[in-house]
Amino acid sequence: MESSTYLDEDSHRSGRRFARRLYIPRIIGLATGFFCVASVLVMQPVSGWWWLLLITYGFIWPHFAWQTADRSSDPAGAETRNLMIDSLMGGVWIALMGFNALPSALILAMISMNNVGCGGLKLFLGGLGLITFSCLLITGLFQIPVNLETTPSQVWICLPFLLIYPTYFGLVSYRTALKLSEHKRRLMHMSTRDGMTGVYNRRHWEHLLHGEYDNCQRYQRSATLILIDIDHFKSINDSFGHDVGDEAILAITEHLQLTLRITDVIGRFGGDEFGVIMSGTSQESAIQAIDRVREYLGEFRLPHAPHFCLRISVGVAEFDKSMVNYREWLKSSDVALYKAKNLGRSRTEVADIAA
Ligand code: GH3
Ligand code: MG
Repeated sequence: MESSTYLDEDSHRSGRRFARRLYIPRIIGLATGFFCVASVLVMQPVSGWWWLLLITYGFIWPHFAWQTADRSSDPAGAETRNLMIDSLMGGVWIALMGFNALPSALILAMISMNNVGCGGLKLFLGGLGLITFSCLLITGLFQIPVNLETTPSQVWICLPFLLIYPTYFGLVSYRTALKLSEHKRRLMHMSTRDGMTGVYNRRHWEHLLHGEYDNCQRYQRSATLILIDIDHFKSINDSFGHDVGDEAILAITEHLQLTLRITDVIGRFGGDEFGVIMSGTSQESAIQAIDRVREYLGEFRLPHAPHFCLRISVGVAEFDKSMVNYREWLKSSDVALYKAKNLGRSRTEVADIAA
């Protein structure tokens, strides 16, 4: 029940954003379009009521349309109705102008661009149907003679509509594309990183390990995998609290990032367990790197637990071409880590690779 309320709220908000996105383009489009239609209507005898309707539609309707969508319980639906009203009105002006070539073509093009941009082919075809309907209705009801000819001055008056509206529409599309790519980047970051430490999460780290394994097999490259687990981490949590435990995890991450190479791929493998893929690195170099991390940790004290020394156990496994898949590689380093724990912790053990 609650989740459906969240979903409703979300669709209401995105519907409102959709209507809001069309507010300024509608103001610009209808204001510039007003002069196109007016430039034709002044040349023919039309009743004052049409002028009133044109002024109202050109300058008041955009605000009214936004207000109705904003106050609606279904803003997206209300805005779609507004777009259909725009299509109907487009047909009215085309018929009233006696199908004057340039302004009629512009109105048709702008409305179609808007509809297809907002609701794809379905809205485009719906809009086209409504334009045709209102065109035929007004032509039939008022017997307006067809006059296709556009005068040079009408061409000039139509220019702002022709230039400003599509340019603005393009700008809105460009900004939307930028926002989408930013969202994509953020989603990508969220789906590949561990929320607390910012290093890769286990799923993505394993995916990278799979890639490294494939590369090593294909190009006969060397690489070493290490698994690190904090010793007696539970006792930090139990003695100093979960917050201090979190501080310890962050401190280890920081030390790994500072000490290891930029090309080493660090992942948080579990609660207090980390994995590092060292591409192009031999087992000996990996052990030296871990010794440097240990040296660092030996000096380091947690601010809220100054007497506690963080220690780590490490399992090291160099890539070997006899490994049938990356899981076997991972398993080897896990076994080595297990051995380090069993042999008294705070040490590094190397995997036995069956040749
Ligand atoms: P060992 O030396 O055998 O590794 O002992 P240990 O106490 O470190 O045991 P183990 O690695 O199995 O325990 C991990 C503990 O880490 C269990 C869990 O309560 C705790 N933990 C897991 N994730 C987090 C976290 O994000 N923050 C904190 N504070 N604790 C966590
Ligand atoms: Mg542990």
